[in-house]
Amino acid sequence: MKLIYCIKCGDVVALRRQERSCFCGKSKGLYGPDGLHATISGPAIPLGFTNQSFRHALMNQPETGLGKEFTAFVIQKVCDTVEIV
Ligand SMILES: [Zn+2]
Repeated sequence: MKLIYCIKCGDVVALRRQERSCFCGKSKGLYGPDGLHATISGPAIPLGFTNQSFRHALMNQPETGLGKEFTAFVIQKVCDTVEIV
């Protein structure tokens, strides 16, 4: 799962097949038809959630105590599945 972090307004937005933008409107992004490749623009840094660990955390939400961790990461600057325009 890919998201963008806008360095101008601090918003984090999950990408979809329809273009979405952050709160300030300067960062935008969307998935291509394959649902894997994404195009982003503006002062955005692409982020990723490891889908399996995110799903596992959702399904194992603790009742109390500490939250369930999952893997999130900053996507590398040169990435085959993220085009920056
Ligand atoms: Zn913004």
